[in-house]
Amino acid sequence: MSVVVVGSMAFDDIETPFGKSDKIVGGAATYIAYAASNFVQPVQLVSIVGYDFPTDEMETLKQRGAVLEGIEMVPDKKSFFWSGRYHMDMNTRDTLITDLNVLGDFNPVLPESYRDAEFVMLGNLAPAVQKQVIQQMNKRPKLIVLDTMNFWMEVALEGLLEVISMVDVLMVNDSEARQLTGEYSIVKAAKKILTMGPKYLVVKKGEHGALLFHGNNVFFAPALPLEEVFDPTGAGDTFAGGFIGHLAKTKDISFENMKTAIIFGSAMASFCVEKFGVQRVKEVTKTEIEGRLQEFVQLVNFDIALG
Ligand code: AMP
Repeated sequence: MSVVVVGSMAFDDIETPFGKSDKIVGGAATYIAYAASNFVQPVQLVSIVGYDFPTDEMETLKQRGAVLEGIEMVPDKKSFFWSGRYHMDMNTRDTLITDLNVLGDFNPVLPESYRDAEFVMLGNLAPAVQKQVIQQMNKRPKLIVLDTMNFWMEVALEGLLEVISMVDVLMVNDSEARQLTGEYSIVKAAKKILTMGPKYLVVKKGEHGALLFHGNNVFFAPALPLEEVFDPTGAGDTFAGGFIGHLAKTKDISFENMKTAIIFGSAMASFCVEKFGVQRVKEVTKTEIEGRLQEFVQLVNFDIALG
C-alpha cells in the first residue's frame, strides 16, 4: 500500500524563547514522510527543491521508505525558506519570512507509478499545486486529506476553497478554522467547514490536543503532556503523517478508525517537538512509538460508574 504525499521541502530558521536553530531542513512533506513511513511504505513524495537542498537528507528519506521520483530539483534556484518565532507559550508563533523561491512556480508532474494511490496527503503547499495533484490521479483516491495554513488563506483563498471542496478530510489548527469561517466557536466553525466539502474535519490545538468532527460526532485526542517542548515546528505535519499512515496501513476510513488515527497522529507529534527540526522524527523507533501509544492509553483511560 502506497501513499502519495505532497508538500513543501524547505529550510527553516526557528527561534523559540529558549533557543535558536539556524538554517535547518524542514518542510511539510519532509515531516509527513518521516512520520508516515513508520506505518506505510512506499511514501511517494511530490515536491520541489533548489540546488541547496542536502543530498544526504534525500538519502535518509529514501532509506526510510520514501520514493523521490516526484521531487523536482531546480538547479539554479534556492529551496523554499521559512522562518518563525515562537511566543512564550510555545503554542503560537509569528512567521518572520516566507521565501517561496522554487515553490513560486511549481507545476508538479506525477510519475505514472503514483497515479493509482488510494491515499493522498496534501500537505501544506500552494492550493493550485494541491489541486493539480488531485487532477493527475487516474481515479478518485479512497481518501484525500488536506492540510493548509493561514498564509494560503491570505494569499490564495479562492483556490484554497476550491481544493477544500475536493477532499475528504481537512486538517487545520484552531486559529485557522476561525480565520477560514469567521466563527470564534470551534463547534460553529466545524459545522461551517463540514458544508464546504470535507466529511471529516480535524482541528489541531497544539498542546491542547486535537478534535475530530464528522456529522454530529466529535472526538477528542489529548496531546501528551511533556515536561519540555523544544521546537513545535512540524508537529502538525508529523501529526498528519501519523494520521494518514495509520489509515493507509489499515485501509479503513471509518469514523471509528479515524479516532485511532488521531491518537497515532498525536503520538507522532509528541516526538517531533522533542528536538529541533526533523531530527527526532527521523530517528524514532517502532518500540518508542508503541511505548508512547501505551502512555496515551494510560492518559485517557478511566472507569466511571454511571446511573
Ligand atoms: P507546522 O509547524 O506543522 O505548521 O509546519 C511547519 C513547516 O511548514 C515548516 O517546516 C515550514 O517549512 C513549512 N511551511 C511554513 N510555511 C509554509 C507555507 N506557506 N507553505 C508550505 N510550507 C510551509
